[in-house]
Amino acid sequence: MADIIDGKAFAATLLSKIAAEVKTLSFKPGLAVVLVGEDAASQVYVRSKVKTTVELGMESFHHALPADTTQAALLALVRELNANPAVHGILVQLPLPKHLDADEVINTINPDKDVDGLTVVSAGRLAGGLPGLVSCTPLGCLLLLQDVIPDLTGLHAVVIGRSNLVGKPVAQLLLQQNCTVTMAHSKTRDLAGLCRTADILIPAVGRPEMVKGDWIKPGAVVIDVGINRVPSVTPGKTKLVGDVAYAEAAQIAGKITPVPGGVGPMTIACLLRNTLTAAKRLESAQ
Ligand code: NDP
Repeated sequence: MADIIDGKAFAATLLSKIAAEVKTLSFKPGLAVVLVGEDAASQVYVRSKVKTTVELGMESFHHALPADTTQAALLALVRELNANPAVHGILVQLPLPKHLDADEVINTINPDKDVDGLTVVSAGRLAGGLPGLVSCTPLGCLLLLQDVIPDLTGLHAVVIGRSNLVGKPVAQLLLQQNCTVTMAHSKTRDLAGLCRTADILIPAVGRPEMVKGDWIKPGAVVIDVGINRVPSVTPGKTKLVGDVAYAEAAQIAGKITPVPGGVGPMTIACLLRNTLTAAKRLESAQ
């Protein structure tokens, strides 16, 4: 039976370390969160980010804009936040309403304040091995992995999914750690056979329980990024499952993240970690 990688506990420890470090600073790291419109899920995410920011002793700047906000007004706000020295991190909650150009908005964020790691400059810095801010979920995956395998050198990692948000940055981070990385996607042939060669398997697909137990190499480390809402056994209720068929995979894997309670809690912890990193860099550059 696999060891469970407890992302919730790891994230809680990370958050308390961040809070302890914030107390030692002569300034307050500031995180600005911009929410446009009334998307219910986005409102929940933003509330949780704001709450955690304040709990850690950081400054929270919360901007809730109406759904009919224009592109020009949103860009003006991002530029204002770029120029505000009390703001060290800027996060624009996605998705934006359809009439807005998210790429333009994200790429207007000063890359040194890009705590979500989503600007093309951040992606380029990561690909080029330059210091920068790395998007939160991929960073969370790496921290969980390094906790269970401190030296990843030479291991074969298979990342399923090639999105800019998760798959690509995860692969870049693992490459930096000297893994041999294979990126799989919807056109990959014999995905199950490929997965069986993985010492580290990271599915980031969005397909409930797609990765079966017999896709996993005995003893492999499985980091399940997928979050999928499916009907539960209780009529009318839903539950969250990952991209991995957890019960059967846990019989074969060496270590595995559960869903929920694995990668999910790391994402917000890494957002605050990035805010602290950005704040220290920006303050020391002044
Ligand atoms: P995207 O939809 O952007 O990307 C999905 C990727 O999976 C694509 O590259 C796609 O391939 C690939 N894919 C789709 N179907 C298959 C298949 N049958 N076989 C192999 N590959 C396939 O999703 P994201 O990267 O944004 O998110 C992935 C998952 O991670 C989702 O469940 C999301 O909810 C979750 N997530 C979790 C977070 C967390 O905090 N834990 C944060 C962000 C995301 P192709 O490119 O060929 O289409």
